[in-house]
Amino acid sequence: MKRVVVLTGGVGGAKLVLGLSRITASDALTAIVNTGDDFQHLGLHISPDIDTLLYTLSGKANSAQGWGREGESWSFMAALRELGGEDWFQLGDGDLALHVARTHALTQGQSLSQITARFAAQWGIATRILPMSDQALATILVTDQGRLEFQRYFVEQRCAPAVRHIMFEGATHAVPAPGVIEAIQSADAVLLAPSNPFLSIDPLLAVPGIGSAIKQTKAPVIAVSPLVGGTAVKGPTAKLMQELSMAVDNDSIARHYAGLIDAILIDNGDRCEAPDIVVGRCATLMTTPDDKIRVAQAALDLAISFRS
Ligand code: GDP
Repeated sequence: MKRVVVLTGGVGGAKLVLGLSRITASDALTAIVNTGDDFQHLGLHISPDIDTLLYTLSGKANSAQGWGREGESWSFMAALRELGGEDWFQLGDGDLALHVARTHALTQGQSLSQITARFAAQWGIATRILPMSDQALATILVTDQGRLEFQRYFVEQRCAPAVRHIMFEGATHAVPAPGVIEAIQSADAVLLAPSNPFLSIDPLLAVPGIGSAIKQTKAPVIAVSPLVGGTAVKGPTAKLMQELSMAVDNDSIARHYAGLIDAILIDNGDRCEAPDIVVGRCATLMTTPDDKIRVAQAALDLAISFRS
């Protein structure tokens, strides 16, 4: 596979992207990243999913914690608390530097994609990391507790409110970031990472032009299921599926992506009987580096099987 494009959110998706980065040529892989989680906090522009990819691919991620950087110090948070500042969103000192540098560059007129590319180069990351858009598109959850911005729902409320509906504010005005459509059009394989379909992949598909580019590509489009053993590995995916009146199974995931994907990669022990979708199998739980490579290879093998 010469050119591989992967649509991804944060932690779950980054595991697959890391695996792919180990088995593809250094200039072959483009990750198009959800920015529906981006928000302004304490005057800073925070891009959680882009940061997760930057940290994961540069070897700086705190994998035990599941977010942020390894070996962080927390002087800023302690000082902020002393001042009675907002402390519901944890910002380690190194993490803070990234947000300050990004926000400063944005105020100087640089785009999110330019800034992301610069940080990736600075940290020696070969994978091309593209934000889905340089414009704001905010994921908003309409819940039994009212309308919540993504981070308020995800971090402050720990996904407890029941979700009735998900909206992507700004979607009509957002345009794909430079290179996004071209990457999809010239890809030999397009992968949907096992990210949350509703909160990580749907915002990407809400950017006008991205979904249609994927539908039109001749390259095989392969989704890796976020369900293992009939439930989500982590996060609110399964809870959301129930709240949105879906069965928590791979058929629902395949149906959700109907018209978009050619195949779905699911765990060995799971089932998928959705019509017109090729089903691939492997052990899809990614804990160790070898797991990530195995799942990445299985997704690429599934894509290659469409050539013949
Ligand atoms: P977030 O943006 O940080 O919430 O992360 P993502 O949306 O990228 O990923 C969350 C999803 O990844 C959840 O639905 C998980 O079930 C899925 N996930 C996490 N780890 C794994 C794994 O090892 N294997 C698979 N197949 N899915 C995973």
